[in-house]
Amino acid sequence: MSDPLPKVATRRMEELVTELGRVGEQQPGGGLIRFAYDDAWRAAGVLVARWMTEVGLQVRTDAVGNVFGRLPGTESASTVLTGSHIDTVRFGGKYDGALGILTGLAAIEELIRTCGRPRKSLELVALCEEESSRFAADFFGSRAMLGAIGPDEPDTLRDADGVTLAAAMRRVGLDPTAIGSARRTDVEAFVELHIEQGRVLYDEGTQVGIVSAITGLRWLDVTVTGRADHAGATPMDLRLDAMQGAAEMTQAATALAEAEGRPAVATCGAWQVHPGGVNIVPERVTFSIDLRHPVEATLDRLAGRIRQECERIATRRGLEVTLDDTKAVAPAPMDEPLQKVIGEAAEGQGVSARPMPSGAGHDSQMWAPHVPTAMIFVPSVEGRSHCPEEYTPAEDCAVGASVLAGTLREIAY
Ligand SMILES: [Zn+2]
Repeated sequence: MSDPLPKVATRRMEELVTELGRVGEQQPGGGLIRFAYDDAWRAAGVLVARWMTEVGLQVRTDAVGNVFGRLPGTESASTVLTGSHIDTVRFGGKYDGALGILTGLAAIEELIRTCGRPRKSLELVALCEEESSRFAADFFGSRAMLGAIGPDEPDTLRDADGVTLAAAMRRVGLDPTAIGSARRTDVEAFVELHIEQGRVLYDEGTQVGIVSAITGLRWLDVTVTGRADHAGATPMDLRLDAMQGAAEMTQAATALAEAEGRPAVATCGAWQVHPGGVNIVPERVTFSIDLRHPVEATLDRLAGRIRQECERIATRRGLEVTLDDTKAVAPAPMDEPLQKVIGEAAEGQGVSARPMPSGAGHDSQMWAPHVPTAMIFVPSVEGRSHCPEEYTPAEDCAVGASVLAGTLREIAY
């Protein structure tokens, strides 16, 4: 299309972000709590549904509480989907997830005003759950739409108070036995706008990021075993100190990620020391390694090198080491033609853009193996996220919303 590209007003974004940002606010500036199926979550869904109706969308809630606003297409039965998640982390910000819904709303509103009805149906979704804040149900909204929820999840997943997911759903009028009906097979593309949650765009002054891939991850539990001895009576050269070995291993793991360079990251965050006495040489240390990279082959290579290094260090120190894989998530490459469409939409509006991987997980990684999927990032001030300080200026939100509108117009009109 050669018409001028749709432009979302800064004021509109300001208004939407401010109003949704009050729902679940603990106290001004104290962060949000909107957990799946709690009262704030329900109020947020009602507000978004009202806005969807006001802009002229057909509103519907599915079996798990995903809220949809649909703009029916004139030709095709397939649907172009945009949106993100409406739940938050504990004491989270106003932008994570919410901004993908609000920019989608503003973008579709602008498209209706400037272009009328699309050829393909356009649908905005407020996904019910992504963060695993209340139940270990991560990506619950997307997984329901993809038919990927285990039959035992509703009755076995419990929150901190022992309430099952099924009971929490019933409390807000949803039927957990109907989850299967949330499945969708008509979605032909998914485009999600999200805050970057890091500081690359902010530091560079680049207006939008076009996500190339969502990072993959490997979790390892490393157990190092030596021998407990008296801390005073055992000379240094006669010790089998598990902690000294583990310390060297964590250094080796992080050094490998540093040598690989961005975006490789390695984190050793959870530690247990046995027996854990001030005056006892540590007998056994278990620590975690969280390794992430958006390219599977690099992830494999780094994980292999870390394993070799740990074994080498253990052998040299006379220690035993075991490495257990506890979790693996494959990287999710984003659709290349869609990345190109986003790039052109940005260029057409004079918006600076760069390709970049996502270091955080997103709903898009659930969708990518099934339908062409793409993500637009907008800057996070100082890279802050998952905290009350999370902030993206309204002008930056509007720029992202306009690029989203241009992208949706190209795909759906
Ligand atoms: Zn998010």
